[in-house]
Amino acid sequence: MTREAPVVLWFRRDLRLGDHAALLEASRHSKHVLALYVLDEKLLKPGGAPREAFLYGCLEKLDEQLGGRLMLVRGEPAVEVVRVARSVGAAAVHVSTDCGPYGRRRDASVAKALADNNIDWVETGSPYAVTPGRVTKPDGDPYRVFTPFYRAWTAHGWRAPADTGPSLVDWVEPPRSLKIPRPPRADAELPEPGERAALDAWHAFLDGGVETYDTDRDRPDLSGTTRLSPYLRWGCVHPRTLLADLGDGAGAKSLRSELCWREFHADVLWHRPETARENYDRRFDGMEYDDDHEAFERWCAGRTGFPIVDAGMRQLLAEGWMHNRVRMIVASFLVKDLHLPWQWGARHFMKHLVDGDLASNQLNWQWVAGCGTDAAPYFRIFNPATQGKKFDPDGDYVRKYVPELRSAAGTDYPAPMVDHAHERRVSLERYGRITS
Ligand code: FAD
Repeated sequence: MTREAPVVLWFRRDLRLGDHAALLEASRHSKHVLALYVLDEKLLKPGGAPREAFLYGCLEKLDEQLGGRLMLVRGEPAVEVVRVARSVGAAAVHVSTDCGPYGRRRDASVAKALADNNIDWVETGSPYAVTPGRVTKPDGDPYRVFTPFYRAWTAHGWRAPADTGPSLVDWVEPPRSLKIPRPPRADAELPEPGERAALDAWHAFLDGGVETYDTDRDRPDLSGTTRLSPYLRWGCVHPRTLLADLGDGAGAKSLRSELCWREFHADVLWHRPETARENYDRRFDGMEYDDDHEAFERWCAGRTGFPIVDAGMRQLLAEGWMHNRVRMIVASFLVKDLHLPWQWGARHFMKHLVDGDLASNQLNWQWVAGCGTDAAPYFRIFNPATQGKKFDPDGDYVRKYVPELRSAAGTDYPAPMVDHAHERRVSLERYGRITS
């Protein structure tokens, strides 16, 4: 092998140069690598302005790391990737595996179009420590429950981080390239994009937060979590990099388990791609939901009259992010107090979350709605008032996002839109009808 013919490295959910298994593999085939990103309307459309703005920021940073040599094209990947590969005489196109339903379909058609042109398609690594589909029960069936998956995932183990960086290869000068689009106006205040920012956030967390992660992670009034989700979503950092830095303290163990939730949900979606839209537990197809768009709008705007719910919904609009405990509370409220379908809430989240990820979002929604994997019993219905007292004991989180409640009078703040005790009973009755 000469290593002289160039190859293409097509970036997707791996917008970094460190710990990059596909880059390492590409470097073994050629020392001349063309870095490519394809703007694909099918992926851009369902995301809202915050996620799109963050993506463009990450592309800017990647382009800087590449010395301005990121090639950007727009269009149908099966056409564009072949066109680009042919234009530089590439022998192969290298990628990290995309495990989502759309990505899998798209990649099958790109690989076929490349094969028709005698260009190799090489998949190496994925956005996960263990690629979805690899961890199964001894009889080959996928896991349906998190804890045994976690044990098997830990036993399976993962590779050490790949030793890669910007100077591993010679980056080919793109024959032509679009300019990275100007970010759409996103009203949300977004995190700093890119690999450097991801690693800085991670190192700051290792210095200051990891030891107390297990106790503080449920407290939205504290900065108790990593806030790495947008970076993991876009692959500015690989989970293997994080896992390699984690020791054996209680905080580290708890964080390892949360990272595994991300892998578990990706594994579930890999085996059951239809669960992006449909109930994982088909008994819930018979569940009665309401069709109250006005109630939905109040939930979206954070005007329900339940302070912790409203604070969460407003944090989502203000920052494109929401604390995990509060995501659970607002999701439970939508499904079990307002009796609206989880898909409505999941769509709103996907529009506003910078970390919006099909597997993590849809399957967490299903988990809260009771129709997903695992033993999340439907009848465990969050009481928003008790949750608020327990996890935001001094009300700091609520006051930060709901300014009307900063003064004792609370003028202009709505009365609770429902009676929680009553709606809880309604939910349980409806649940009884599908399970009796
Ligand atoms: P940390 O607590 O620091 O955790 C570190 C990382 O572990 C996270 O960045 C994330 O990648 C992963 N993680 C942690 N908790 C979970 C979890 N329950 N499920 C899957 N991965 C987890 N996460 C997303 O990344 N994208 C989503 O679209 C998304 N939608 C959600 C919707 C609902 C209804 C719920 C209840 C949770 C959702 N989550 C989603 C999971 C979780 O809320 C976020 O990953 C977490 O809040 C991100 O903050 P962090 O990076 O500070 O998390």
